[in-house]
Amino acid sequence: MSSALRLFYHIILPMTDIITIPGLARRLRINTIFGIGRNYVAHARELQNEVPKTPVIFIKPVTTITYSGNNIRLPFQSQDVHFETELVVAIGNTGKNIIVQEALDYVEGYGIGIDVTARDLQQQAKEKSLPWTVSKGFDTFAPISNFIPAGEIEDPQQLTFELEVNGQIKQRGDTSKMIFPVAHLISELSHFFTLNPGDLIFTGTPEGVGPIHSGDQLKATLSGKTTLEVGVS
Ligand code: MG
Repeated sequence: MSSALRLFYHIILPMTDIITIPGLARRLRINTIFGIGRNYVAHARELQNEVPKTPVIFIKPVTTITYSGNNIRLPFQSQDVHFETELVVAIGNTGKNIIVQEALDYVEGYGIGIDVTARDLQQQAKEKSLPWTVSKGFDTFAPISNFIPAGEIEDPQQLTFELEVNGQIKQRGDTSKMIFPVAHLISELSHFFTLNPGDLIFTGTPEGVGPIHSGDQLKATLSGKTTLEVGVS
């Protein structure tokens, strides 16, 4: 790459803008994206999974992030890409071995997101006891809304959310039904990994997951406070 081109990419284009957490007063560059599997009983059952005794944890690459107004891009490697609508927690402080009682002090904000999943690839991985990384990790597989500052959410376990696909409601979520509440997830994660400002936690999806197709329009809302709208291409 020529030095002029490099200058263009690194200075002229606002590169940091494309991976910051949207909607927050504080500019936080998105860091690690954690996903939690099977955090609602009815969803664990609909995919014939056991209800876990400890949170199921996975990680999505930062290149999965896309914002409201953009498209989820279907990869050619999958014929069965699913939506999973989830409360997303943004971490604002560094922490390790955080106790549950202090865990919410580490939250910078809350948003709604879709943990897009190539279900066929995930199923193949499960059958071979292999990691889910590929099925969860394609570009644009983590669309997120603008975030609401943590101070405006009294209790993250008293939120509702829903997803419409082409105007039809497909999922309704109620965070009081989480198996592992947000504070528990933060504590649990922090005993394995140091949490850092800009980390995101996709907290798991309720029942009703289903496929998306090219041309679909998805609209997810979180307690009437923030909305994510994405297309599919
Ligand atoms: Mg999920």
